[in-house]
Amino acid sequence: MQTIVPDSVPLSLAAPSTPKKSGRAHYYPSVTDEQWNDWKWQFRNRVTTLDELAKFLPIPAGEWDMKRSVLKDFRMGITPYYLSLVDADDKDDPILKQVGPTVEEYVYRDLGEEDPLGEENYSPVPGITHRYPDRVLMVISNSCAIYCRYCTRKRIMYEDAVPDIEIDRMVEYIAKTPAVRDVVVSGGDPLTYGTKKLESILSKLRAIPHLEIIRIGSRVPVSLPQRIDDELIEMLQKYHPLWINVHFNHPSELTPDAAKACDKLLRAGIPLNNQAVLLRGVNDDLATIKGLLHGLMKMRVRPYYLYQCDQIRGGEHFRTSIQKGIEIMEGLRGHTSGLAIPTYVIDGPGGGGKIPVGPNYLLHYDPKKKKAILRNFQGRIFEYSEPQGRAALVAKANRLTKDGEVKPTAGPKSRTNGANGHANGNGNGHADGKAVVGKSGWVHRGHSREERLSAATDKTPKA
Ligand SMILES: *Cc1c(COP(=O)(O)O)cnc(C)c1O
Ligand code: SF4
Repeated sequence: MQTIVPDSVPLSLAAPSTPKKSGRAHYYPSVTDEQWNDWKWQFRNRVTTLDELAKFLPIPAGEWDMKRSVLKDFRMGITPYYLSLVDADDKDDPILKQVGPTVEEYVYRDLGEEDPLGEENYSPVPGITHRYPDRVLMVISNSCAIYCRYCTRKRIMYEDAVPDIEIDRMVEYIAKTPAVRDVVVSGGDPLTYGTKKLESILSKLRAIPHLEIIRIGSRVPVSLPQRIDDELIEMLQKYHPLWINVHFNHPSELTPDAAKACDKLLRAGIPLNNQAVLLRGVNDDLATIKGLLHGLMKMRVRPYYLYQCDQIRGGEHFRTSIQKGIEIMEGLRGHTSGLAIPTYVIDGPGGGGKIPVGPNYLLHYDPKKKKAILRNFQGRIFEYSEPQGRAALVAKANRLTKDGEVKPTAGPKSRTNGANGHANGNGNGHADGKAVVGKSGWVHRGHSREERLSAATDKTPKA
């Protein structure tokens, strides 16, 4: 028996374990390396019909009609690479759920909106959504490498190229709108275009003097990492400052191939940020989200947003409660690297923009008394006092002047009131809630403030 680890096996599964019915060797045993690594081959050979899908993953007889009907509403597209991540033995496979039609999608087919974010209501010219003061969304492509069943922009996926004249009108709008300093180039997926076509668009955008940054939104590093080839990289790095937002949802998507694609982009100086969608049955538990975030950090991809699933038609079964999202966020802050924590947002239905939601750590705030009651990640309570403000300072200074002599301050001892965490250990604690500062002598190291100050002065290099 062969023990080849397929190219596209997720990092977490790369160690030898019970053989899974997945990977390139399982689904595409006779495809050559040359074909597999050619993004155009991957694109051409996407699974787009139920008959093709059934060759790889059996479809129960009773589900054919429902699934056929669902595909009439929203097309299917699965690259061979993305299919290779599916575990054929797992009927709840989180990869397949994102791209394959399901009975739930049929059952709930009438719920949800065509354009849940009202993108077309904020559109000065076709393809542009101008919702925020200084940045616009530009939809330049009607195709993707894979079609995600929960996609908020299902309505535009026709797979014919956006006419050049429309793209020119979008560019013109940005050129004559000096407030726009940031453009999100999206679709569809811009990286499904050939490199030349994409370059023609990027070069027009780069020629606009007031446009500071260009961002591309793409799921291609997740769904078609072969697309991130040297030719593309050479081209992209001519248009800096360029940022790319990627879209990983599940740790199984963090494969060596995806990591390589991200590494190439990062080495070209393109910062990568991830926008994940919280999806029921795919990633709606803390362990999965943590696995995703930690895996992204290892790939040097910064988690940016975690989206609440939009009220998209045909996406009802993917939606979770907001409470679920807040619970997950609560499980992250303080429990893992702050760098790994995305902002959880709900896109305002009908066009409100992204609204951050999350656990509440400010329990009470009294602006008159200048006090805040806070809780930390362990549920411990802290009181923070705000600065007293100029009026109070002036009054105090006047009192001191009246008293005559100004006494020297007492040094560090004057700072041991409860509001200052580090002086008495309030702000420091281990998971068991016990304060630890002071036990190790780490704070003062046995020196007085005066001793430390004079030591610091002595070390000043002499010119
Ligand atoms: C998400 C989005 C942006 C970018 O928002 P950021 O919070 O800056 O990432 C811009 N325009 C529209 C219409 C969007 O949906
Ligand atoms: S890749 Fe993005 S734009 Fe394309 S279908 Fe998926 S979510 Fe929608």
